[in-house]
Amino acid sequence: MARFIFVTGGVVSSLGKGLSSASLAYLLKSQGYKVRLRKMDPYLNVDPGTMSPFQHGEVFVTDDGAETDLDLGHYERFTNISAKKSDNITTGKIYRDIIGKERKGEYLGKTVQVIPHVTDRIKEFIKKDIHKEDFVICEIGGTVGDIESLPFLEAIRQFSNDIGRDKSLFIHLTLVPFLKSSNEIKTKPTQHSVKELRSIGIQPDIVICRSQHSIPLDQRNKISLFCNIPIQRVIETVDVKTIYEAPISFFKEGLDREVLKYFKIKPKKKLNLNKWKKVTKTITSKNLKEVNIAIIGKYVELKDAYKSLDEALVHGGIDNNVRINLIRIESDRLKLSNIKKNLKNVCGILIPGGFGKRGTEGKIGCINYARKNKIPFFGICFGMQMAIIEFARNELKIQKAGSTEFNKNCRPVIGLIEEWNKNGNIIKGSLKNLGGTMRLGLYPAKLQHNSLVKNIYKKNLIYERHRHRYEVNNSFRSLFEKKGMIFSGMSPNDKLPEIIELKNHPWFIGVQFHPEFKSRPLDPHPLFSSFIRAAKNK
Ligand code: GLN
Repeated sequence: MARFIFVTGGVVSSLGKGLSSASLAYLLKSQGYKVRLRKMDPYLNVDPGTMSPFQHGEVFVTDDGAETDLDLGHYERFTNISAKKSDNITTGKIYRDIIGKERKGEYLGKTVQVIPHVTDRIKEFIKKDIHKEDFVICEIGGTVGDIESLPFLEAIRQFSNDIGRDKSLFIHLTLVPFLKSSNEIKTKPTQHSVKELRSIGIQPDIVICRSQHSIPLDQRNKISLFCNIPIQRVIETVDVKTIYEAPISFFKEGLDREVLKYFKIKPKKKLNLNKWKKVTKTITSKNLKEVNIAIIGKYVELKDAYKSLDEALVHGGIDNNVRINLIRIESDRLKLSNIKKNLKNVCGILIPGGFGKRGTEGKIGCINYARKNKIPFFGICFGMQMAIIEFARNELKIQKAGSTEFNKNCRPVIGLIEEWNKNGNIIKGSLKNLGGTMRLGLYPAKLQHNSLVKNIYKKNLIYERHRHRYEVNNSFRSLFEKKGMIFSGMSPNDKLPEIIELKNHPWFIGVQFHPEFKSRPLDPHPLFSSFIRAAKNK
């Protein structure tokens, strides 16, 4: 039977529960165990799909097409275990299911309550869809003390009772602040946070203390004493230079050792952290060449809005031994007159995914600049669609070329498939709701011989993750190809253009999917490696 590890957070949010969970998962996996990571989000949205990146950062998409919390991206990058739909749940989803059942009369007239109905549903989620996993690590979003996370804490308390303490472990992550004025490390917030957790019946087995400085023995003893935790299970995590140092640092602190000891098991395989050490060394090295990459988007000022993309670029940098200097440009602020000035020192231009009209003309202007000046260009999803519009307007001379996403009266070089597929081959429903109407998850694309992408992937068929409603209108294909923009990746039925590239350009690629979701620090995505190589050599 699987062992369950629950990770909660206290004192403040953003302490790195996701990174801690992901690092622990990596350490256990690398010692021969099968691991699964799950996230429980206490908010009332059914999924983060319709949440603005300003509110919640990036929406991470899984192979099976779930729109999930960005922590699942960390999980995948660290462990290389593909997350599934069943690995992320929100309060909204739980309530939707329960109310649905209630309306159908499935509760047989009973009063439907948080305990036991909501907690039972959470418990079902925790153990659903598990296949011979040795460990299931469940991260509980939010901070202990929040009203929203209470049903989750109650559910994990019950769950642990149901399966037994020898099969469940509680990890609590807290902040141990350093007070400059008194030159002291303070353990009180951790004590209070653990007290709060104990008041709902959960005694943590391990406490991870996030701190700016190493925690002296005295203070560790204090935490151990007041929180009722053996000293060796007080694990510190001091701020690291790069997040990819986290597995190394947790290993040094013995987090995995304590977990295995708790469950009375031994590593099945010897751990080797050399690859992480190499990654960390490259990222932190002082004498790396810098490559300036411009990201032009709508949410560039928000740290987590393009999380996977930022990471994928870093991975491409690691693969080429260069440091990526990201220049984030707000597309709204770009005027045709200042594009040249803004992109003066740039070696590569990337336009990421996006939605809606705002900022599109600035993006199209930048693509024109990249195309004409032979600057490596990478268009992702919306970025590819904008590259199609730019080429249609300026090379095919279709002045009114546009996307029906933001202009119903344009010539739709980009559109919903039912808007341009007259053969009755409609593969998507009409747009009544915004939630659940996208092409989501893994889809295949076949690559054209002698194309740049074929050369990069070195495969005939690739699988990448999608998240979009609109598609490139394939009926314009021959016009584009005559002028030198080829559709080098197509859906297997030849209907949906998946990749475009320019013949007379050193590196100009647009992809309808999101390759960033599949890039890993230990296994950089070939498109990002190749893009950075082109930018480095510019
Ligand atoms: N808004 C575009 C669409 O829905 C692109 C989406 C994206 O970039 N992820 O097709």
